[in-house]
Amino acid sequence: MKTLVLLSLVAVTAANAADFKIGVARVNITPPTPFWLSGYAARTNPAPTVRTELWAKALAIQDPAGTRAVIVTTDLIGLPAEVSDAVAERLKREENLPRAALVLNSSHTHSGPAIWPNLRVMFDFTPDEAQRVKRYARKLTDDLASVARQALDGLQPANLAFGRGTAGFAINRRQPVPTGVRIGVNTNGPVDHSVPVLRVSAPDGTLRAVLFAYSCHNTTLGGDFYQVDGDYAGAAQREVEKDHPGVTALFMMLCGGDQNPNPRGKVEHVEQYGRELASAVEQVLKGNLAPVRPPLRAAHQVIPPDFAPHTREQFETELKDASVFKQRRARLMLEAYDRGQPIRQLAYPVQAVRFNQDLTLLALGGEVVVDYSIRARRDFPGENLVVAGYCNDVACYIPSLRVLREGGYEPVDSMIYYAQPGPFTEDVESRIFDAIRTVMSQVGVGSSSPGGGAAK
Ligand SMILES: [Zn+2]
Repeated sequence: MKTLVLLSLVAVTAANAADFKIGVARVNITPPTPFWLSGYAARTNPAPTVRTELWAKALAIQDPAGTRAVIVTTDLIGLPAEVSDAVAERLKREENLPRAALVLNSSHTHSGPAIWPNLRVMFDFTPDEAQRVKRYARKLTDDLASVARQALDGLQPANLAFGRGTAGFAINRRQPVPTGVRIGVNTNGPVDHSVPVLRVSAPDGTLRAVLFAYSCHNTTLGGDFYQVDGDYAGAAQREVEKDHPGVTALFMMLCGGDQNPNPRGKVEHVEQYGRELASAVEQVLKGNLAPVRPPLRAAHQVIPPDFAPHTREQFETELKDASVFKQRRARLMLEAYDRGQPIRQLAYPVQAVRFNQDLTLLALGGEVVVDYSIRARRDFPGENLVVAGYCNDVACYIPSLRVLREGGYEPVDSMIYYAQPGPFTEDVESRIFDAIRTVMSQVGVGSSSPGGGAAK
């Protein structure tokens, strides 16, 4: 009898045990309309209306040793360092959250607001519009700090589990043509159709939140679409939340720099891909997920990849180019020359957040092409790795050596809109992988003991 009572007590304790404390929060970041949408240079006026609302959502995680991490996802084209650094500094100051412990991801929706100064070459704002856009970026900084803080304030016992599904609507968009590579459909190009899913549940098993991810541009809607919208990622989050009332669904964009949905262009496609992704998430939630356990470790590094050499004369010539975008880029580059600080390097953030030996999130800045996640998973075969691009600072595309050598929009032409001087040098991939190895070793990859604590 005594043994039975003891056994059932053990069973109850096990069933209600929690590995972590986790907090979840959300804030509406829909811009006031009319507002300029970002992502397509061809747009000619601000969006007058909102089709669906945009959100920033935060997941704060604390392990039993008190080590914390906060993952913030946003329905936005891309956060610039100006916003992310300000949010990180505030959280460091007010919450003592180390920079390494904060991940800020952007879904890369092309129907979201312009985020000053991200992609500023795309726009020719009136003084009034410029004020509105700058005001939105300031408000966004407040909102992101506050949503992270709310999640940290709401920590409650919870467990994590992980699984992967698949969704097939992403295609490689770098289509080889006789003149080079254009944006189209390349059925032979690399893709990553996996859908990583992180389940957050209360000690009694109740679902509280689900973080899911995919490697594909949120470009279902084209440059002819003039309403605020979260694209397929927004639709997928709504679907998951509709299926699970009270649950927060967070979308994280992975290495989809060279991936587009196919076909694309219609609101029907947005809803279709939203359902497809949500049903992949649902499949995973219904299956056997693997536990994700403490300790939590995080590491973060900023490295300086080089841009190819350039000269003042080059941009003086570009000032006279027929393209207004090239003219604007040239003006910004010449201003930098005038200050005596021509742009030679990028400040590029590389981050890892690891849960015991169960799961590692590698969070990379910029529009990272899919080659990076394929190679990272090959280079770290023992790790359960999720490789996200679009984290912390979306300052330009991040090509692999292969993509850089092939040329085309991602490694070359897009640099105009991002106000960068030109393509990277050919060592860009190897330098980023050096930094990846560094942050991975700082979170214990390659060592036998996972240890504890957060690296700086
Ligand atoms: Zn893009």
